[in-house]
Amino acid sequence: EIREPINEPYLGYAPGSAERAALKERLKELKSEEIEIPAIINGEEVKTGRTADVVMPHNHAHKLGTVHYCGEKEVNQAIEGALEAQKKWADTPWQDRVAIFLRAADIITGPERFTMNATTMLAQSKTPQQSEIEAVGELADFFRFNAWYLTKIYQDQPYSPDGMWNRVEYRPLEGFVFAVTPFNFTAIAGNLPAAPAMCGNVVLWKPSPESIYSSWYVMQVLKEAGLPDGVIQFLPGEGADVGDPALASEHLSGLHFTGSVGTFNHLWKTIGNNIEKYRTYPRIVGETGGKDFIFAHKSADVDRLVIAALRGAFEYQGQKCSAASRMYVPKSLWPEFSDKLVAEVKKIKVGDVEDFSNFMGAVISRKAFEKITGYIDYAKEAKDAEIIAGGTYDSSKGWFVHPTVIHTTDPHFKTMEEEIFGPVLTVYVYEDKDFEKTLDLCDNTSPYALTGAIWARDRYALKQMADRLRQSAGNFYINDKPTAAIVNQQPFGGARKSGTNDKAGSMVNLFRWLSMRSMKETY
Ligand code: GLU
Repeated sequence: EIREPINEPYLGYAPGSAERAALKERLKELKSEEIEIPAIINGEEVKTGRTADVVMPHNHAHKLGTVHYCGEKEVNQAIEGALEAQKKWADTPWQDRVAIFLRAADIITGPERFTMNATTMLAQSKTPQQSEIEAVGELADFFRFNAWYLTKIYQDQPYSPDGMWNRVEYRPLEGFVFAVTPFNFTAIAGNLPAAPAMCGNVVLWKPSPESIYSSWYVMQVLKEAGLPDGVIQFLPGEGADVGDPALASEHLSGLHFTGSVGTFNHLWKTIGNNIEKYRTYPRIVGETGGKDFIFAHKSADVDRLVIAALRGAFEYQGQKCSAASRMYVPKSLWPEFSDKLVAEVKKIKVGDVEDFSNFMGAVISRKAFEKITGYIDYAKEAKDAEIIAGGTYDSSKGWFVHPTVIHTTDPHFKTMEEEIFGPVLTVYVYEDKDFEKTLDLCDNTSPYALTGAIWARDRYALKQMADRLRQSAGNFYINDKPTAAIVNQQPFGGARKSGTNDKAGSMVNLFRWLSMRSMKETY
């Protein structure tokens, strides 16, 4: 039995600290070389020659390297190799499988800590603190806690009356799991292939092209930790080029996905269309978008609410599925709240993440920049909305969008309803007497139900809000921001159109990658 882990403590990177110097040094080294990122199939580097440039969001002229993209041929090779690898991997004692991921966690938090942090800073334009909490802390926590949960799962055995011996075997799924990972969290990119692999499955991993640089380093850590060839096949590429052949295989046994609703719907439909082909019903696990709310009651603590709104909406440029993007504030609090919020937003520094004093970096890509600024421009023109802070952007060097607050008089205003995935917070001010009606609005406005936060000092109001919004969020926060779930503390996932709610980093998630065999023996 392994020891129950603790969450990895974060380094602070304060001015003058040794870790700050070490991280700066690592950033310099990494930036001084261009790397070539191949696919990895059966442990071999595969260079397809169909390449794309890898650049930094906050300095799009700076090339970090080149990536080789896969297509049908490589995917089919990867499937064949993975099925071959599965013969031994599924038979490897779970203690030995888990050991690899525990070792990987120690590499991430030890010798490669600054590599993990720096590559995520460069690839995804995260500040050192945002990078540390996830590319180091959360990724290591996923590996360690999933290992711990597995020890408990494997030990959970049924009752045996006299004269018989009942037991269950937690088999891996037959076939391969397809892991499709997002750009915004290196921890999620690592966890989606690792969780099924730890359970004895083989995995085809399609990392996001937008964060391929940090995903490549995660793959390097897994190899260094001793992951056998073929267990996780690393397949960079455009969505359909990798996705279509993977989902067309009769051996697909599961999909582990984080990304947009549109992509998840498409993958689900494709699986539906192929259903006759499969040897087994694929397990579908997905986390998609959010339109996450902060709902304030008139008894809320305004100073704390301002900080929650700022951090919830603007950390990592609002590119978290959990980011606060719509807010409900009572009229009685609005003058004080809006004054304080606008004053704080004006102080936020946006720029190159290698300048550690910046609070925000760039958004991930031109496509993201255009989408986000499109919403900002829409609000500028609209008659029932007003931009009260930010509203500016600059793409000359990097994809910079300044933190933006929109005040609207229409609770169904476009930016109250649609996921923007950027640093844009929309506030609707309600009449204090309409508190209950506004709770209904909050619940009905968006198809998503990922995260939400309620704010009040009045306990009766908190109870009323928590009850009315029971189905509105899978991760619910009381007097806190709606972001930054920690593994083993707030299992993460949402319902409705936010996903299947098979909480990341939990036993619920691991059970999806296991197929039980009940065995009864009499004597
Ligand atoms: N788990 C992250 C949080 O709580 C969000 C993950 C995501 O964006 O998918 O902030």
